Amino acid sequence: MKVIGLIGGMSWESSAQYYQIINQTTRDRIHPLENAKSLMFTVNFHEIERLQHAGAWDEAGAILANAAKRLELGGADCVVLCTNTMHKLSHFITDAVQIPLLHIADATAKAVVARGIKRIGLLGTGFTMEHEFYKGRLEQFFDLEVLTPQKPDRDIVHRIIYDELCAGLVKQDSKLEYIRIMQHLVEAGAEGIILGCTEIMLLVGQADSSVPVFDTTTLHAIAAVDFALAD
Ligand code: GLU
Repeated sequence: MKVIGLIGGMSWESSAQYYQIINQTTRDRIHPLENAKSLMFTVNFHEIERLQHAGAWDEAGAILANAAKRLELGGADCVVLCTNTMHKLSHFITDAVQIPLLHIADATAKAVVARGIKRIGLLGTGFTMEHEFYKGRLEQFFDLEVLTPQKPDRDIVHRIIYDELCAGLVKQDSKLEYIRIMQHLVEAGAEGIILGCTEIMLLVGQADSSVPVFDTTTLHAIAAVDFALAD
């Protein structure tokens, strides 16, 4: 079994989910007493969040590179960056370490393609929905057409992530807003919805959508187990 290296804390609400899914999946696959070998380096999300909103991406990238190096030095066999947004800076990690980065968008896109879906709705932070690093990867490498909400709804999705979900707040009003926004994406032609922020699964899931939902937290965590258990 290989050692899974996790960069957590963005936010720890979702890192806790990764830890649980990775170990539960390992148990389900092998034996009730089996769990994954893993290391997690947890960054301070408040520092990261301030750098993101100040546009200080290089400084944030240096923090990620440092975290990845610590994992590699600690004996990790891969890096799992437990956030969609910060994959904007994945090159800082791949430049800093020899061990592979398991990209969250790849794990997600493979599941979307396997369902025969071509046109996919994407929810996430404003950075994930608007910057090219995520949509572009889905379009160029997986031939998907990506739909995002209109600007006012993107702002709502973004605000709920930072002000509520990352702060440990799960509100019924916000759930209804997400359901409304997902339904708009379906009406615009989305055949599935990517929950492209690792905290969204705390708010909505398959039961809240008329089309297949792809939860990046679960798919990424399972990809980590696949890696750890492969020969
Ligand atoms: N966990 C979130 C994501 O998957 C947002 C927090 C962050 O900015 O990293 O994008």
